[in-house]
Amino acid sequence: MKKIKSFISFLLLLVLILSSGCNQANKVEIEDESNKDEENIKIVTTLFPQYDFAREIAKDKAEVILLLPPGVEAHSFEPTPQDITNIKKSDIFIYTGEYMEPWAEKIIKNIGDTNTISVDLSSGIELMDEGDDHDHDHDHDHEGDDHDHDHEEHHEDEEHHEDEEHHHHGGKDPHIWLDPVYAQKMVDDIVESLVKVDSTNEEFYRENGEEYKKKLQELHESFTETFKKTKHRKIIYGGHFAFGYFAKRYGLEYISPYNGFTPNAEPTPQRITELIENMKFTGSKAIYYEELIDPKVATIISEQTGAEMLLLHGAHNISKEELEKGVSYIDLMEENLERLKQGLEYIE
Ligand SMILES: [Zn+2]
Repeated sequence: MKKIKSFISFLLLLVLILSSGCNQANKVEIEDESNKDEENIKIVTTLFPQYDFAREIAKDKAEVILLLPPGVEAHSFEPTPQDITNIKKSDIFIYTGEYMEPWAEKIIKNIGDTNTISVDLSSGIELMDEGDDHDHDHDHDHEGDDHDHDHEEHHEDEEHHEDEEHHHHGGKDPHIWLDPVYAQKMVDDIVESLVKVDSTNEEFYRENGEEYKKKLQELHESFTETFKKTKHRKIIYGGHFAFGYFAKRYGLEYISPYNGFTPNAEPTPQRITELIENMKFTGSKAIYYEELIDPKVATIISEQTGAEMLLLHGAHNISKEELEKGVSYIDLMEENLERLKQGLEYIE
């Protein structure tokens, strides 16, 4: 009897030990899993601005990957099979929109049943057509007889005509990130995607987002104040048409010799001449050039007019040196601010 009793208590003890051990094991496992999830949030971004924004919002809670290798021109970029695998394995895939990354849609469709959230940062933003800007430009550039002459010449020019046809079928302006107000909207979209993937840290993401948006708002205010006091109000740009939203935001005029919104097609001599005429007309002493591309057009214009060449960084991507220095989107935009002060002749 005693033996049986002690055997029963032994059994009970065993059950207790096992069940508590089991419980503990379960608990540990669950904790492990949630930790793993937190540490493993993987974000894949296409361009540098969203890469930088995502890092500012997620900080140490996510691994953020920039698809563009350092120094690569963004518009001609095509993802490698490894990039596509990375996108499919990611928790969040952040891209600019169909006009910047025409290849993205197909990948998103083929993502299948993985839990990747795709974020189209241009959704909800009314994108501009190229046509809009050209009309705008011609209305303001030339006054009097010169204007009509110029216009007729362009219409007679078959090549230009073909390009214009191309515009109408072509895309819309994808360069939303260069407007610090749209940049704040981009930050909101990234915050929401992180909250969806990791709601436990919702407050953390929202706070970081708000803090970063304050910096973007300060940047926006600096631009607004600066352009109230510049002698010139026109940015003459030797690079491709990237600063359309920026110029619109601050009521500036903007001219680029490229057709379309990419640097893929070389500007015609007529368009370069048009820029030179603009320089003479406005009395501007600065010609701006773009990042990461040989500034051929700006060099020609500088040689012909004696204008100073200044970099206006489109922030699509950064160079290897910039990456190593830890350059941020805000750094690039603050440098742009300084060069615009210089080139548009800021009056203290
Ligand atoms: Zn561009």
